[in-house]
Amino acid sequence: MSKTFLAKKSVYDITKFTTLDFKDHLACIIWFAKCNMRCSYCYNSKIVDGEGTLSNEEVLEFLKSRIGKLDGVVLSGGECTLNPDIVDLCDEIKDLGYEIKIDTNGLKPNVLKELINLSLVDFIALDYKAPSSKFEQITKNNQIENFYQTLDMLIDKKFPFEVRTTVHHELLNEENINEIIFDLNKRKYTGTYYLQNYLHVDDTIEKLSQNSPSINKSLLSDTLPIEFRN
Ligand code: SF4
Repeated sequence: MSKTFLAKKSVYDITKFTTLDFKDHLACIIWFAKCNMRCSYCYNSKIVDGEGTLSNEEVLEFLKSRIGKLDGVVLSGGECTLNPDIVDLCDEIKDLGYEIKIDTNGLKPNVLKELINLSLVDFIALDYKAPSSKFEQITKNNQIENFYQTLDMLIDKKFPFEVRTTVHHELLNEENINEIIFDLNKRKYTGTYYLQNYLHVDDTIEKLSQNSPSINKSLLSDTLPIEFRN
C-alpha cells in the first residue's frame, strides 16, 4: 500500500543515469535538499541551502518509469537521512525492486541503523570528513560523536560500506589523513579507504584555491588499503 509522506518537496533534482556512483549497478541519483553540515569544499551549495523541487511521489513515479532499465538508486544530497520520510521512501523504492546506496555524512546513526535493520539499504558510502581536531572547522558541525557512532555501528554489523575523505591541501594534510587512518585501524575498519581530491567549482561554500596539490602518497600510513579516486 502506498505511504503517505510527511515532506512536501524534499528532493532537489534527479540524475537520471550513472554507471559510476553505485558499483556494478545502472543507477540514478536522487539529490535531497538540505544538509546538517556546511563543508568548506562542498560544491553542492545550491542543494545544501536550496529548496526541494520534487515530491517523494514524483520520485517514485520516475523510478516506476525506469523499472527494467535501472537496477540501483543512489540517495545523495545534501543529506538524505534528514528527510522525515526516508524509511518509508526506501521501503517503496525496495518494493519497486531496486537496490539502494546511501551517501551520508554519518550524523544520523539511528536512521541508518533503522534502515539497515529493516534491510532497506544495500550499501553505504560514509564520508569521514576530518580528524576530531579539524572536524568542526571543516564541517561547521560539532557532532563528531554521532559520526563515530555510525562508523562503529557499520563496523560492528559488518555492513557493506566504504569510508572516503575529500582532500584539499588548505584543509587536510598528510598528517591529518594519517590521524584518520590511525582511528580507522583503532576501530577495526578493514575495508578500503578512498581518498578523493577536491575538484574545483566556482561556488563552493568557502573560497578555496583552485589547484590543490595531491596528497603525497609516500607519507601515508600503509596500515589500510588506500585508493585514490582522482
Ligand atoms: S559536502 Fe558537506 S555540506 Fe556538502 S552535502 Fe556533503 S555533507 Fe553536506
